[in-house]
Parts: sequence; structure tokens; C-alpha cells
Amino acid sequence: MGHYWGNILCVGSSYYSIDDWLYPFEMHEETAKEDLVPSSDLVVHKAENRILPIFEKSLNEKWTEPFYFIQAADTQLGLIVNYGDGTINDQYPNITWEKEIELCRQSVEIINNLDPKPKFFIICGDLLDAMPDLWPDIRKRQQDDFMRVYSDLDPSIPLVCVCGNHDVGNTPTKETIANYQASFGDDYFSFWVGGAHFLVLNSQYFEDASQVPDLALAQERWLNEQLQMSNDLGSQHIVLFQHIPWFVQEPKEDKIYFNIEINCRTRMLSKFKKHGVSKIFCGHYHRNAGGWDENLELVVTTAIGCQIGNDFHGMRIVRVMENDIQHDFYGLDDFPQKIDLNPTQKTKETSSNKSNL
Ligand SMILES: [Zn+2]
Repeated sequence: MGHYWGNILCVGSSYYSIDDWLYPFEMHEETAKEDLVPSSDLVVHKAENRILPIFEKSLNEKWTEPFYFIQAADTQLGLIVNYGDGTINDQYPNITWEKEIELCRQSVEIINNLDPKPKFFIICGDLLDAMPDLWPDIRKRQQDDFMRVYSDLDPSIPLVCVCGNHDVGNTPTKETIANYQASFGDDYFSFWVGGAHFLVLNSQYFEDASQVPDLALAQERWLNEQLQMSNDLGSQHIVLFQHIPWFVQEPKEDKIYFNIEINCRTRMLSKFKKHGVSKIFCGHYHRNAGGWDENLELVVTTAIGCQIGNDFHGMRIVRVMENDIQHDFYGLDDFPQKIDLNPTQKTKETSSNKSNL
């Protein structure tokens, strides 16, 4: 409990005028403060009708100048305790996520201090850990904390979200998709920045669409149209974002938990190559990885949250140049503040994701 002095409430070190506290008057001060959750509309830059505001095609169709963005994955509030890090380990419903909150706060601080500012910050799925169909109440608390932390992001840097299996469920339903959309915006959409065309996919439709075959089909039709339009317009780059990678090391590897089934994978990768997609950024693996399929590079970025391998908690800087896209991963403790948009030319071999070693 805080103290009540005249018309001022004292909660910890914060003071609130009584005028700020309308009803219910008997509300406990700490509870009231803790319960303040910023509206997701103010935190997440949400796509609607498959379009991301500010980044519409009509305003961004033509190449202008080099720019960069920050790509990350798997903030996944709750996984560190659920997976176990050697010191802590528990099962739902006894899960907490203080460590992830701390790591996400660190990501906000880093991004807010970047010079120049990135065009956007994108998190490639598994925003939260608790499955929507299994632990909806716990998920809501994780989501509230996610919104609290990322409400501190510089409002001029749009936070763009991609859905992961933990966000729409391993077997998504109309309900889990609708709930996701209400909090984070469309599950698939496209946007344009300075002549580059970015496509965000719901990779769960390729993993298990058994309950939503019509939604999966709609995404694929939309994707075909987008790729064709991109080619017709002659976009400078076509870049994809999704949660589950098509592969983690090389295109012909066997199916494992962390990649997509091989027939679907081969079909989709040939489509992407045919249309000139140059990069696909993913998460889900909780390790840095990726590889090439001819001229198409697939980049897997490890988590901001729980690590399965030996990578640092971190994020990726992606520079988009006129004829090239370069990316470098950095740990949160080692993240540069000044971003050089004209770095020395890299080759296929050196523009990799192993820079944390
Ligand atoms: Zn995942």
C-alpha cells in the first residue's frame, strides 16, 4: 500500500494527483499502477487488411537510399524458466519471466539509442511462450508485460510483429488466429520501405493447417499475387520474414522440429527463387544458423530470450543497399550504437551470422 496525503497519492517514488485517479476510489494504489497496460495499438505497429500503415506501396515503391532495420526473434516471455537454464526450471502454470523482461528492456534501450534510427524493429515470432489454447490467462499476463516493456520503444521506430507457433498455437484455429490479430495485427501482410518489398508470412500454415486449410490457402494465393506484383513493379529487393525456417543449415536436410517438411519446403523455395526473393529472415531455432539455396539466403536469428545453443541473447542489424542486403548479429551486451550505412563490401562468405564468435 502507498500513503494517502491530502490530495496526493504516493506509490513508491511516484506521485499521482487525485485528479488522475477517477474510479474506483477504493482501488489499491499498487494494484492500480501494476494493472496499467498500454493498449497494444500504441505498442505494436499493426497491419490491417494485409497492409502495414506508413509503409504502404504507393509511398515506398521507388528506391531512395540505403537504410537498415533491426531483426530479432523469440522474445518468448516464459521459456527460460520453462526450458530450464541449469539453475531454474519449472512447468506451467508455475512459470515466471523476469529474465525475459530484463532482456527485452535491454533491447529497447539499445534500439532507442541507435544512430541513425532503424526504419523498423521486427520480431520474428514466438513473442510470448504460453500457448494460446493451453494457458490463455498466463499468456495474457505475458502479453501485458510485453506491451509494458515495448511501450518504452521510441515511438518513431515501428515495432513489427511476426507470429510464431507459440503465438497462434502449434495447430492454429480460427480463434487463435483472431486472438493474435486483435493483439498484434494481421498474421501475414506486406510492406514497402524505400523500394524494397517485405513480406511477413504465418509459417504455421506450412507446418500444420489441418484446422484452418482455407486460411492457409488464402495466404498462399495472396503470396502468389504479392510476388507477381513485386516482379511487375520491379521492386529493388524482395525479403521475407517468418517464424519457422524452411531449413536451418541446407535446403535438402531432413525434417526436424525446427524446419518445414521437405516437399512443401522445396515447392516454396523454388517459387521464391523464381520470383527473385533474396533473403528470408526467421527465428524459432534459438540459435544462429541458416544457409543458401542458390542465390536465396535464409537467415536464422537466435532469440532475444532463451538460448538453446551457445549464442548470446541478441539481435541482427540488416543493411539494405541498392544492390545488396547485408546482416550482422550482435549480442545485447555488445551491440553497436553507431550504424555505418556504407560498410565495406562483403562477400557471400563474410556476410554471415556468426559474428558473435
Ligand atoms: Zn517457435
